[in-house]
Amino acid sequence: MRRGAHHATLKMAFPPHRRLTTVQPRPTISPQPTTHLILHLCTQGQLQEALSLFYALESQPNSQTYASLLKTCARHGSLAEGRALHRHMLTNHHHQDLFLSNHLINMYAKCGCLEAAHKVFDEMPQRNLVSWTALITGYDQSNRPDECFQLFSVMITHCLPNEFAIASVLSSCNWDRGRQVHALALKTSFDGNVFVGNALITMYSRCCGGSIEGRDSAWLVYQNLPMRNLITWNSMIVGFKMAGCTDRSLRLFAWMHCDGIQFDHATLISVISSCCGGVDDFASLKQLHQLHSLMIKASFVSEVEVATALVKAYSKVSHDINDCYKVFLETKNRDIVSWTGIITSCAECQPEEALLLFCQLRRDGFDPDLYTFSIVIKACASLVTERHGSATHALIIKVGFEDDMVLANALIHAYARCGSINQSEQIFNHMQARDTVSWNSMIKAYAMHGRGNDALQVFARMDVQPDGATFVGLLSACAHAGMVNQGRELFDAMVEHHGIAPQCDHFACMVDMLGRVGRLTEAEDLINQMPMPPDSVVWSALLGACRKHSETIMGERAARKLIELEPKKSVGYVMMSNIYCASGSFRDAGFIRKEMKDCGTRKEVGLSWIEIGNQVHEFAAGGRRHPQRETIYLGIERLVCQLKEMGYVPETSLVLHEVEKEHKEEQLYHHSEKLALVFGLMNASRSTGAIRIMKNIRICLDCHNFMKLASDCIGREIVVRDANRFHHFRGGMCSCSDYW
Ligand code: ZN
Ligand code: ZN
Repeated sequence: MRRGAHHATLKMAFPPHRRLTTVQPRPTISPQPTTHLILHLCTQGQLQEALSLFYALESQPNSQTYASLLKTCARHGSLAEGRALHRHMLTNHHHQDLFLSNHLINMYAKCGCLEAAHKVFDEMPQRNLVSWTALITGYDQSNRPDECFQLFSVMITHCLPNEFAIASVLSSCNWDRGRQVHALALKTSFDGNVFVGNALITMYSRCCGGSIEGRDSAWLVYQNLPMRNLITWNSMIVGFKMAGCTDRSLRLFAWMHCDGIQFDHATLISVISSCCGGVDDFASLKQLHQLHSLMIKASFVSEVEVATALVKAYSKVSHDINDCYKVFLETKNRDIVSWTGIITSCAECQPEEALLLFCQLRRDGFDPDLYTFSIVIKACASLVTERHGSATHALIIKVGFEDDMVLANALIHAYARCGSINQSEQIFNHMQARDTVSWNSMIKAYAMHGRGNDALQVFARMDVQPDGATFVGLLSACAHAGMVNQGRELFDAMVEHHGIAPQCDHFACMVDMLGRVGRLTEAEDLINQMPMPPDSVVWSALLGACRKHSETIMGERAARKLIELEPKKSVGYVMMSNIYCASGSFRDAGFIRKEMKDCGTRKEVGLSWIEIGNQVHEFAAGGRRHPQRETIYLGIERLVCQLKEMGYVPETSLVLHEVEKEHKEEQLYHHSEKLALVFGLMNASRSTGAIRIMKNIRICLDCHNFMKLASDCIGREIVVRDANRFHHFRGGMCSCSDYW
């Protein structure tokens, strides 16, 4: 829209000079052909060549020559050259010329030098509509809405604005001003003009923050337009999308298509992203497939911008990386944006794949930009060790991006997630400037590692305004470290001193914190006082606490709520069944397991990963498929014997089935993290330091005891990252002090 209006303004203000299609004779012959050549060079964009000819002219240059040169300066943003021309004009007494002054205003405005443009404007003995419009457009494009509107207000006391001035001022208006300009357009009958109409639709969609009122106003303008062009349709499609009415945006596109109106890139990109707006992923996927085939028919699919949008959309609704990858491969002229798009699609679910693509991108000779790096670091954060993270970090230093704050923030998080909190600290301490995200990342890093005091100390040093996320970090740090009093104080201070209203996340942290130390009633009371309906995170925090403290009745209540909210997730059922088991009610445990089966929900399989050499090994509970399983089982038996001598007692109460004691123990021994530990001991050399294991679900009580004793027995640190946090096992103790 904006581009359309702006283009039109220029066309109107500066009619195209006579086009020269034939090649002109060489410059030195006579002044007339030289002037022609200058004009020709200007249309070709060869400003320097045109200028050197111009300054060599022996005769007085005419207005047309000045105008062409100024226009070329404007197009290339060549301020110094434009200024020199201005001085030249002054010495040649051309400055009184209305036509040239308008060109000067345009040149200065386009070069971002609005003060100079305004000075020319002020010194003009007379002005016309073009002078006003050029300056208004300049303020609009320099993002100076106040001056733009002010100038427009003065203008309408002098002359009647045209559609281009109205469209320009609208694109920098807020809601109130926009309505005033709309009223003026109605009065002057410009409201039926397509430029003004498009600008109104865009203004209403942009200013109303997705409100119904804004959407309806835009729709009214759209309906009343006697003539519509592609920009009208595109603006309205975007308008619906911004207002969250993605279905209406898709319907409008369907009409547009049925009416035989040709769509373009911009249309497709908005429509594709509207496809991801629905709640039903399956329906969205169907729409996306339809769009995709339409794009193939209209041969848009190989175009890089559209394909990138499609890749992103597929990754959102289909979760199937193959769909994305297929589109990516079909794209012609892949650029760094499309590469980054496909990497983004994998980063979360398939981080290894994302890193492979990143390597391929570099092999193909593309230079990753800041955005690519930030996505790759995100992928590194999901990996077992910091190896990939530090390789990416080294690359960032090599290409000179190390001072970028966004990347540094991402690295703090990635290193912490991979267990190297020292690296996180180092990056944080060396940052030249830090924003809220930097501080939050460091606080969150300490929280993850159970270092509550360190988190509080960082917060004490924080020199920027904290936000909601800061307190989520702090409260979870307190929860993980069992620091209830500090946590309560922070929760109160957040509301009273920082004016931050607590959200579900904050309540979940508080429930977790109170629950861990056994203040269950207090935790449940807090849930009942929540101003919003508690979400699944809140209930699962309470349920976790009930399990820890064997509180069956409250646990049942929490489990019911959790299952109500997430019937397809196993967490609620499994935790409840564990509570029943722990209290000896195996019958109830059996019932809840049956209920879970009946709902078609399956327990998430416990998986653990360990990296040996450059390879990641995956272990599932039971570990029967592993090629070295016999040796691993033997290793487990040997280790169990040693640990039993040190006082290890298997927590057989956690095992559901009413089976023999030995069999129950065996089930426990084959939990995936134990298998990974033994495999690690068998294969990792001592020099590699701590044994690092990553796990997809929360570590169980038995494995936690086992790891504590094992760290003492083998005299090495064991680091386990579970779904919630880090456990650093050292000398028979865990960094979580048994709160997790
Ligand atoms: Zn376990
Ligand atoms: Zn622990």
